[in-house]
Amino acid sequence: MTSKSKREQIFYGTPVSRGIAMGPMSVAARGFSAPGVYPISPGAVVSEQSRFDAALTVTRGQLSVLQTSIESVSGRDEALIFEAHRMVLDDKSLVDQVHREIDSRLQNSEFCFYAVMQTFLEAMRRVVDPYLKERTIDLEDVCQRVLRNFSGENGIIEPDYQRILVAYDLSPSDTASLDREKLLGFVTEAGSINSHTAILARALGIPSIVGLAGAVLESTTLAPAILDGYSGKFIVYPSAETTDYYEKLSTKRKEARKSLETIRDQKSTTIDGHHITLSANIEFTHELDLVKKNRAEGVGLFRTEFFLLESSNTKMPDEDAQEKIYGELARGVSPDLGIIRTLDSGGDKLSTEPLTQPEPNPFLGWRGIRVSLDRQEIFMEQLRAILRASSQGKLGVMFPFISGMTEIRECRRLLQECMDELSAAGTPFDRDLEVGAMIEIPSAALVAREMAKEVDFFSIGTNDLIQYTVAVDRINHRVAKLYRSTHPSVIRLIKMTTEAADAEGIWTGVCGEMAADLSLTPLLVGLGVNELSVGPHDLAPIRKALISLKRSECQKLAETALSLSTSQEIYELTRGAAQKAYPELFEESL
Ligand code: PEP
Ligand code: MG
Repeated sequence: MTSKSKREQIFYGTPVSRGIAMGPMSVAARGFSAPGVYPISPGAVVSEQSRFDAALTVTRGQLSVLQTSIESVSGRDEALIFEAHRMVLDDKSLVDQVHREIDSRLQNSEFCFYAVMQTFLEAMRRVVDPYLKERTIDLEDVCQRVLRNFSGENGIIEPDYQRILVAYDLSPSDTASLDREKLLGFVTEAGSINSHTAILARALGIPSIVGLAGAVLESTTLAPAILDGYSGKFIVYPSAETTDYYEKLSTKRKEARKSLETIRDQKSTTIDGHHITLSANIEFTHELDLVKKNRAEGVGLFRTEFFLLESSNTKMPDEDAQEKIYGELARGVSPDLGIIRTLDSGGDKLSTEPLTQPEPNPFLGWRGIRVSLDRQEIFMEQLRAILRASSQGKLGVMFPFISGMTEIRECRRLLQECMDELSAAGTPFDRDLEVGAMIEIPSAALVAREMAKEVDFFSIGTNDLIQYTVAVDRINHRVAKLYRSTHPSVIRLIKMTTEAADAEGIWTGVCGEMAADLSLTPLLVGLGVNELSVGPHDLAPIRKALISLKRSECQKLAETALSLSTSQEIYELTRGAAQKAYPELFEESL
């Protein structure tokens, strides 16, 4: 792990998913995947260089053929692009550099070519000039073509070693499709703590850090590294002392986690006997094992956009395919409740359809329930699938991004229509399935009194509620410090929601990331929420927090918090109470 020849280098970013990863890095170029890497003997350098030269020759030939055929169809101008691609391959300095890298790294030629190109490409991507940006795309294209033309068995494959991935950015679908077996953790230059990528990383238990300026350009594939997903430190070429420190810390943390397993079977009830339902947020049914293992009392949020929009098929899964997945959830979570959230596309998630014009402000645009109500066929297909699956277990349904009464009434009307259709066809379903509204837009919290009459429960999506209350884009790193979960306006909106729910005799859950923040548990309990829904990896610490608190004291704390005027004061109040009630969860050991 350690290196005597290189100096330790530390990058600081925002930790988004806890855990420590130690291992070689793999730097991912955007646009194409990294080829496999393997060592070669000094005697094989010349033949590796020849393999590279041969790949260039094949590529040149292909480009010439392409140029001629495009010229005959579209004319000379369109075909000139291939001329430009060929010129890249004729660049002697590039060829020389790849030869030198093969000689000095003693690694296979496709990997050395890839390493040279990706450093070069990443530098070009950062240039604002639109002409150069275009050229970057050309270069990516050429690079991909050359990589496909290497002879031998090693084509373009995912790295075959366990590694820490370093990337400029990762989309939620990139993250979901990463091979978990090979991935120790990831760091990115872009991204923020509440992006869906970060949420997914936490759900999948992948240690990760975002916002590491300069990491990609500065990093070298296969260099040893340590990722500290607790503090946000990314250490490249760690010294022997650093490695030793992290090895010990990692063992200590694993032991501390194990000790939490001893309370796994305890109900999440406060010291003074008030039960708070502790359920899980998941995106894939394979997470149900972890949900059960950690004794969640159900699934409080099943996000459906990942499997509906990010499958490798271009077509969205149809009603039958959806029923199959929802049925797996219903049976897997049984006898507890599994709440399915209808499709929440848009924002930083994928769209249901390609938009002809990119939206200037996607988070304020065609998102969540707005898309579903405009595309009723898709929406009703999903509702029917949920209803059909509801006969296999206890399912609930909730609607995302509700801004007011008209939308929730329309959702209920369409749900009723689906129920009538199924009844007419004699298809079994659960008539009493619970129906909820997500409270994630301030306007919804402000009409919670009225809305509580229309639904069976509220689920507060704090990730969005915070962003829309304080006008801070949840994925914009630049304004991240203004994204404050304890802003007085946010906690007042939560209080309005729980009061409205109480008045109508319905329950309120929190499924946003606030629910998993140990410092905020006293505040949320005091504000009167009945359920906390967190990623499977956060169930154990949040259970410990809940059983260590007195609800009566939390209620007094919340009263005080509601009289305070800054987020800092409220944060200090709740964190202080949390540290007093369960100090062990704040020690370095977790
Ligand atoms: C939220 O907004 O808090 C939420 C749970 O939904 P998502 O993060 O998927 O937008
Ligand atoms: Mg949301």
